[in-house]
Amino acid sequence: MKIPIYQPYIDSEELKTVAECIKSGWISSQGPYVKKFAEEFANYLGVKYAIPATSGTTALHLALAAIGIKSGDEVIMPDLTFVASANSVSYVGAKPVLVDVDQKNLTIDPLKIEEKITEKTKAIMVVHLYGQPAQMDKIIKIANKYKLKIIEDAAEALGAEFKGAKVGTIGEVGCFSFYGNKIITTGEGGMVTTNDKKIAENIIFLNNHARANGKSYYFHSEVGFNYRMTALQAAFGLAQMKKIKKILEKKAVGARFYKNKLQKLSDLTLVDSPSWGKSVFWLYTIFCKNEKQRNDLSVYLARAGIETRPVFYPLHLLPPYKEKAGYPVSENLAQGGLSLPSSPLLTISELNYITDKILAFFKKND
Ligand SMILES: *Cc1c(COP(=O)(O)O)cnc(C)c1O
Repeated sequence: MKIPIYQPYIDSEELKTVAECIKSGWISSQGPYVKKFAEEFANYLGVKYAIPATSGTTALHLALAAIGIKSGDEVIMPDLTFVASANSVSYVGAKPVLVDVDQKNLTIDPLKIEEKITEKTKAIMVVHLYGQPAQMDKIIKIANKYKLKIIEDAAEALGAEFKGAKVGTIGEVGCFSFYGNKIITTGEGGMVTTNDKKIAENIIFLNNHARANGKSYYFHSEVGFNYRMTALQAAFGLAQMKKIKKILEKKAVGARFYKNKLQKLSDLTLVDSPSWGKSVFWLYTIFCKNEKQRNDLSVYLARAGIETRPVFYPLHLLPPYKEKAGYPVSENLAQGGLSLPSSPLLTISELNYITDKILAFFKKND
């Protein structure tokens, strides 16, 4: 028995759509597939513009460049996130300024943002970590007060909601990832979303080698990028869009199952949707008493054929973003946190098997 941490939901639908794409001859970024995928994605979110990219990381880079973040600027962001959030800030020459996270919700703690704002601060990057929506109303208040832009890293949170609005549609720009283990996948891939026409035009311009409109074909007015998604990826994405509701439903069933079975364990802290929104439980993550217990549980489950993942390293503990201390909540969550198998393909019998093993581990160690 081997249960991976994640398995994408792929079937004959992807095969069919990608085959049609190949037969159409439109395989690079031109033609109908990329446009259609962008349109369907924007419709699903309820946002005006969606611009496909090659990954979540390049989507973030494009988004930051398009809203004018540059060398010397500072961008406020949570200490606990995947490294790509911070790297994208480094790519534009700006500095990630770290803020501790909220113990219960795992996302940036709005109460700790203001003390980190300086004259150089230009934006707040919110990360909806593990599918949990951040406290957007409080963050928007601070952003308005200091005239800061908001970037939403929604790579792990496609379909999550803040007070009825889908995350990724609330700030100036939203970014999504379609890596193999994200909510929907295109193999590798990403998307930038915005309601601002100027920003959307700027993203498209930058993503097209900054080719100046109305000038000769090879006239490029600044340093641009090519992070364009291929039609093959978009065709795959179109097939995935048909399944998104089902994927989210299945993941919600899994999260409920984990909660019901594990909530009686006093050593564990579980995460639930916050009062202000809806989580999509990207990776269902539990928090053990301490690092040792987490590591022991992980080894125990591995022996039973169950793959788990520790929570991300806090950014301030990674060499490129090294700082001494000051993020106790993030550190604590990272030490105890363990993500459980979270694929939409998990069956009830697999969920039973996993949770029975976890219960057995805690009984043995009582
Ligand atoms: C996955 C992820 C990214 C990067 O996405 P890629 O498609 O892998 O480049 C960025 N931020 C967060 C929070 C992620 O989980």
